[in-house]
Amino acid sequence: MTSPVEEITVTCPDCGHVCRDRYRGSTNLALDDFDADHLEQASTTTCPGCGERRDLAC
Ligand SMILES: [Zn+2]
Repeated sequence: MTSPVEEITVTCPDCGHVCRDRYRGSTNLALDDFDADHLEQASTTTCPGCGERRDLAC
């Protein structure tokens, strides 16, 4: 059982691009369905403005 995906708005500190992203707040780590790569992709995003990859911000 996992929490609903939360939609957030983030602003890139470098280029100021604002976008929405979805953040899965509390993935149930007891499930083995999520490997490290998947978790990283779920918790990071790439800014479409400057291309920087960062945690929960674009
Ligand atoms: Zn940016």
